[in-house]
Amino acid sequence: MNTSKKIVTRFAPSPTGYLHIGGARTALYNYLFAKKHQGTFILRIEDTDLERSTQESIQAIIDGMNWLGLDADEGPYYQTKRFDLYHEAVDKLVAKGSAYPCFCTADDINKKREIAQSDGQGFRYDRTCYHLSSEERQKKIAAGEPHCVRFYSEDEETIVIQDKIKGEVRVEGKELDDLVIQRTDGAPTYNLTVVVDDASMGVTHVIRGDDHLRNTFRQVQMYKALEYDLPIFAHLPLILGQDKKRLSKRHGAMSVMAYKDMGYLPEAVVNYLVRLGWAHGDQEVFTKQEMIEAFNLDNCSTAAACFDFDKLGWLNGHYIKEAQPERIASLVREFYAVEGLDAVNDQGLVKAVSLSLEKARTIKDLAAYLKIYFVSLEPDLAVVEKNINDQTRPMIQRVYEELEKAENLNHDVIHAVFEKVMAEFDVKLGKVANPVRVALSGQKVSPGAYDLIEVWGKEMTLKRLDSCLRKNDN
Ligand code: GLU
Repeated sequence: MNTSKKIVTRFAPSPTGYLHIGGARTALYNYLFAKKHQGTFILRIEDTDLERSTQESIQAIIDGMNWLGLDADEGPYYQTKRFDLYHEAVDKLVAKGSAYPCFCTADDINKKREIAQSDGQGFRYDRTCYHLSSEERQKKIAAGEPHCVRFYSEDEETIVIQDKIKGEVRVEGKELDDLVIQRTDGAPTYNLTVVVDDASMGVTHVIRGDDHLRNTFRQVQMYKALEYDLPIFAHLPLILGQDKKRLSKRHGAMSVMAYKDMGYLPEAVVNYLVRLGWAHGDQEVFTKQEMIEAFNLDNCSTAAACFDFDKLGWLNGHYIKEAQPERIASLVREFYAVEGLDAVNDQGLVKAVSLSLEKARTIKDLAAYLKIYFVSLEPDLAVVEKNINDQTRPMIQRVYEELEKAENLNHDVIHAVFEKVMAEFDVKLGKVANPVRVALSGQKVSPGAYDLIEVWGKEMTLKRLDSCLRKNDN
C-alpha cells in the first residue's frame, strides 16, 4: 500500500430493502477505518437495478446510518446518475478486445444451458459471439440487432486476491465465464459499475461482506483490463445466529431501525457491532473515539460471528446507565407517545427514570416498567389480598401517619420513616416496604416503595395508601 495516499472507503448498499444489521456492520467498519486514517468515507447507493430499487429503501438506509451516527464525508452518490462513466468504460473494454458484444438471445442461452445441464455439466457461455469477425459484428450492430456486452475472461489467467482478512484466495480464469457487463437494454451490471466507481472515487480499501468474494475475482479482472490500480480488499465473514445458522429475523437480522423500536440505544448497537467480527484484546465497551483509535483490519476475525441478543442487552443496559436521565426520559416518552400517553409530566418522568436507570436493559422495557407512575393500572386483587392483612395494615397505617408529618419526601426522609416503623414493630425493612409497595401499586412487580413515594410525592402517596387501607378494611 502506498501510505502517502489518502485512505478512502465506501459503503455501497443496493437500495432494495432496509439497512440490516450486517450492512450496518459493513458501514461501521468502513467509517471507522476512514476516520482512523483521517480519510474519506463515501456513501454510494447502487441503484442500477431499477426494478428492485426503491426510494423508501434509500431513505431507510440514510435514516439507519444517521441513527447510528455514521455520517458519510461524501455522497450519497447514485449509480443511476453515472451511466456515462460506465458506458465509457464498456466502450474502452470493447475497443481493446477485453469485452465483446453478444447477440445470443435469452432463448439461445437457455437452450445451451439446458443441454449442458442434461449432460451433467456446469454451463459456461460458449463464446459464439466472441468468435464473430469484426465485419459480422459491425453488420449486426448496423442492423440494430439487440445485444449485450460480455467481458472476456482469459482462460489461462489465475486471479489471485491478497485479501486483508481472508488471506490469499485464487481462482483459475477458466472457471469464470464471460460475464455480461452491459445488458441488452444498455444497463451496466454490478461488477462493472463497482469497479468504475471504486476506481474513479479513489477508493483505497474495499471492506464488505464475504458474500462478495466471488465477485471480487471478476472485479480484479476488470481493474486490470481498465488499467486501474487495485484497491485493498477486506472481506468480512458472515454474521450467524446463535445456532450457527444464517442470520434470520428471529436471530436479529432486522432493520437497524427495528433496534430503535425495540428500545436499543444507537451507541449500544454500534458498540455491539464493532465487536461482532473484530477484537481489541478483551475490551468490550468502547466510546466512538476509542473505536476509531483502536480499529484495524488485522484484528478482524476470520470466523463467522454469532449474533447474541444477551450481549447486546448487556451493552444497552450499560449505556442506559451512563446516559443522562433527561435523554432516556425523552426516549421513554417516544414509546408513550406511540400509545397516546402524552400526559406524563416531565419532572416525574425524569425522576422515575433516574431511579430506575440501573435496572433497564431496553428503553422499551423501561417504559413498560415505569408506566405505573403515570397510568392507573387495575390492582391485582390476589396480590393485594395476600399482602394487605391484619398484620400489615397497622404498619401501613403508621407509614401513612409518618409520611403525612414529613416534609420533602426524598430518599433519606422516606428511609427515616420506614426505620421508625420497623423499630416500632421490630421487623426488617422488607416486612414493611413490600406491603406498602403493594398498597401503592396494587401489582406483583413494580418499582420499590421508596421510588414510588419519591416520584409520586406526598399527596398522591397518601391518597393511594388511604384508599388501599379503606378498601381493604375488613
Ligand atoms: N451493492 C452491493 C450490495 O449491496 C455491495 C457492493 C460492494 O460493497 O461492493 O450487496
